[in-house]
Order: sequence, then C-alpha cells, then structure tokens
Amino acid sequence: MNNEKWKRIFPEKISKNIRSIIKDDLEGPVALQFLCSNKEYEDNPHAVDDALGEGLYQMQEGLIHCYNNRVLLHFAADCPARCRFCFRKNSFSQRSSYYLEDNLDSYVKYLSEDNTVTDILISGGDPIILDLELLRKSLKLIRDANPCAVIRFCSRGPLTLPEKITQEFVEILKENMPLWFVFHVNHPQELNSATLEALERLREGMIPVVSQSVLLKGINDDEHILAQLFNQLLRLGIKPYYLFQADAVAGTAGFRTDLMDSLEIYGRLKILNGGLALPALAVDLPGGGGKVFLTKEIVLEKHIDYYLIKREDGVVFKYPC
Ligand code: SF4
Repeated sequence: MNNEKWKRIFPEKISKNIRSIIKDDLEGPVALQFLCSNKEYEDNPHAVDDALGEGLYQMQEGLIHCYNNRVLLHFAADCPARCRFCFRKNSFSQRSSYYLEDNLDSYVKYLSEDNTVTDILISGGDPIILDLELLRKSLKLIRDANPCAVIRFCSRGPLTLPEKITQEFVEILKENMPLWFVFHVNHPQELNSATLEALERLREGMIPVVSQSVLLKGINDDEHILAQLFNQLLRLGIKPYYLFQADAVAGTAGFRTDLMDSLEIYGRLKILNGGLALPALAVDLPGGGGKVFLTKEIVLEKHIDYYLIKREDGVVFKYPC
C-alpha cells in the first residue's frame, strides 16, 4: 500500500495541544505518534484490518460483547487527533456514517435485557469529542439501563482535547458513578501543562483515573522512559493499569516491538518500578482470542513470522511477529 492510500484511509489529524507539544520537534516521541511517517508504510504480511477480531463479537452496530460480563460501546467514530498506530485505523472510513443517536436505543435495549453485564466500556474513536448534552443524555440512558455496572470511559482527551475536560464534563461523569476514566498516554512528554490541568480537574472532581499505554517502537520502548511515565502518573494519583503490545494491524508494522523485546523491556521495568507504578503487560490475541497477560510462560515458540501463544484455557494462537 502506498503513502497516498494511507493518507486517504486515515488522514492526519492533530489537535492544538498536540501541536503545542510537537512544536518543531518533528522526530520527537509525540510527533512520531501523530504525524504521517514511513513507520506506517512498512510492510507486515500478517497484518489485518481487525486484529482483535472485534467483528466476530459485534452484536449490533457499535456494540461488542467479547467477554461474559463486559460490553464495549462505541460512542464516537473519530478522535480529536489520530494516532498513526491506532488498532482501528482501517475502520475509520467505514464508520464515517456512524452516529451515536442512531444506536442509543439498541444499546439501552441490549443492556436492559442482559443482566450479566457488570462492566461497560465506552470507547470509539474517542467519546471526548461528543457534544456535552449528547454525552449527558447517552450516559444517563446507559446508566438507567444498568444501574450497577462499572463504566470505563476510555479516552486520550486530557492530551488531545484538554479544554474539553471542563467542570461541566466532570459533573456529567460524576452523575454516572461508578465510573473510571481510562487515560491513554504513552510518553512523559504528553504530560504538558494543559494535560496536567485537565487531569487535575478530574482528580478534583473525585473521578478515579487509571492509565493505559501502548508499547511503541522508537517512541517508548525503553524501560527508563516507561518508568518515568508511570512514576509521574502515580504521583498524579493515576494508577498505571495496562501496557499493551501493539496489535498487528495493517499500516502499523513500524510501530510494533517484537514480543520477546517487550518481555525484556518489561522485565527491566519491574526492577525499576514498584508494583503501584507497574501496569500489567497485556496482548490482544488475534481472531477474537481476547486479552491475556503477556508472560514468558505463555509464549511457546517462535517461528519465522509468528509466535505460538497458549491461552490459559490451553487454546494456542498464532501471533504475528
Ligand atoms: S485515541 Fe485511540 S481510537 Fe483515537 S486514534 Fe488514538 S488509538 Fe485510535
């Protein structure tokens, strides 16, 4: 696939705060995440569009039910800024006609009829882009349909659109407790003053915040960078939650670390950071195999272009290098 095609499928989009961090550092760790570069044009013959196999568990448009008690709801189809390594980068254009209003009723019906759901992930795109009134209405309907489930609001908003995290936004989240804000952050440089102020507003509003990060080649694949990021988050009252292996999605090969390198980096990180500042290293298995904790024990063997990984229940998956 050539450069022009990638730019058409997943056009560059950069927000004001991200521009203010990048400035002229076009080879820096933030620029590399958001500016088109040769990293995303490297070939990966095993990469697919839907590396997680979410399509297999899509019960209706925008609703993924992969694990017994957990449901993922797409609240938005786009983001304020687009990460070049995004695992949904190939489905952005297909979802251009997606509107939350069209799916709300069916989300509510599904949740009202399934009383096994204890965990609702709100994702996208990034739900931070929603108009506040639509967000208020949508979260209330979801909460009314399932009064007890924990809601996880997954967003890069404190970095990509910090101005959106206003008092009013925080109040909307507070009205729908129990709710956790899951902040996607990958590098200490992302924690500039605007991001920190947005996180502080969440903290002042008593919204519990955890982080999730993606291990990215040439960006944060270094235990010292990760240790600095996770310690800084911890000082802000944010528990580092997940560190993900980057998925084998078409157009992201240049961002992916080798599985064994990831394990080595994580091993060294464990020496540097205590448990509170240590997220779980996790990998999403291909073909809808779900998320597993990545340890040396589950990696059975390496072949030329894939690893064999054994899930807890004994099922073995081919994981693309
Ligand atoms: S914020 Fe998340 S969904 Fe949006 S482009 Fe980045 S990785 Fe993809």
